[in-house]
Amino acid sequence: MKPKTKLIHGGINGDPQTGAVSVPIYQVSTYKQEEVGKHSGYEYSRTGNPTRHALEELITDLENGKAGFAFGSGMAAISSVMMLFNSGDHVILTDDVYGGTYRVMTKVLNRLGIESTFVDTTDIANIEKEIKENTKAIYIETPTNPLLKITDIKSVSKFAREKNLLLIVDNTFNTPYWQNPIDFGADVVLHSATKYIGGHSDVVAGLVVVNSEKLAEEMHFIQNSVGAVLGPQDSWLLMRGLKTLGVRMEEHEKNTAKIVQFLQGHPAVEKIFYPGIPSHPGNDIAVEQSRGFGGMLSFDVGSGEKADELLKKVKYFTLAESLGAVESLISVPARMTHASIPKDRREELGITEGLIRISVGLEDADDLIEDLENALS
Ligand SMILES: *Cc1c(COP(=O)(O)O)cnc(C)c1O
Repeated sequence: MKPKTKLIHGGINGDPQTGAVSVPIYQVSTYKQEEVGKHSGYEYSRTGNPTRHALEELITDLENGKAGFAFGSGMAAISSVMMLFNSGDHVILTDDVYGGTYRVMTKVLNRLGIESTFVDTTDIANIEKEIKENTKAIYIETPTNPLLKITDIKSVSKFAREKNLLLIVDNTFNTPYWQNPIDFGADVVLHSATKYIGGHSDVVAGLVVVNSEKLAEEMHFIQNSVGAVLGPQDSWLLMRGLKTLGVRMEEHEKNTAKIVQFLQGHPAVEKIFYPGIPSHPGNDIAVEQSRGFGGMLSFDVGSGEKADELLKKVKYFTLAESLGAVESLISVPARMTHASIPKDRREELGITEGLIRISVGLEDADDLIEDLENALS
């Protein structure tokens, strides 16, 4: 099955009982048992719900994994994955990781004894330097947020295997439509489904896919024990979103390419970060491991004042956190999504006050370019 077909025919389709072509929303918490312990596959909706299950089957298919799990947010998914580890374990993460991931590792999970180190994972030598006796996993984002840095999934997974470490990939930016980390050896893939998978700025959710029966068992145990599950309505909204993920991603990509071309020629733009630019570091790897470059890009206008001015003038780009929706969004990572990262650390990473991130939506590219042109002048 080709990717677009899989989005529509993968997982569980419709309802065999009624012929409904969309999976019903099973708004239910508990299920009748014929006798003690004899049930029709569902006992209690934290443990399993048919609507959530259909979504979990679909994301498993889309990521070419063994089992999928739906959570109440991307952070719930990430935190639940971290529950695979024990007090005293150590995880190495990408340095410009999503701000919330940085926060949960350094302000919450550290209190439970899970240690973390942040390195530039685009170079395996940096990972290798930080390996300790208690290191259990490598956690990467590729492309990263907001600098769109590319890590070579295949090389890191080979390295992780040699060292007996799990490789966890946050695949939010590229979505399963463009990139399937499990195909390159990742053990766990996760998503903030709040972004492209939902796609319409109307649901907060997270998804996890694992590549082995053993991890599937462990994740299901954690999902049921910790209980950060996604409700049936939101599960249904994600399935609805996934049906159009292919056409949406194609359009996001086309619009983004046009905007990149416009920004490249603009004197007010000092630097552009987009994996599709041939000179962008890791462009060759992106071509190798992804079918597309996505709809996220960042550019630097030089200062916080200039960024503020631009934000005041744009009319189609909504100033908001989040990304991956039909409407174009704009943000200043240093003061928004990455505000929880200390200032000196941010500057070290290159997340300057003048760095603007845009999530290119599905409006007409000509309107978006005209909007940016006005705002930059
Ligand atoms: C938004 C985001 C998250 C967190 O997801 P929520 O759904 O907001 O909890 C994690 N990783 C990345 C890359 C994100 O963009």
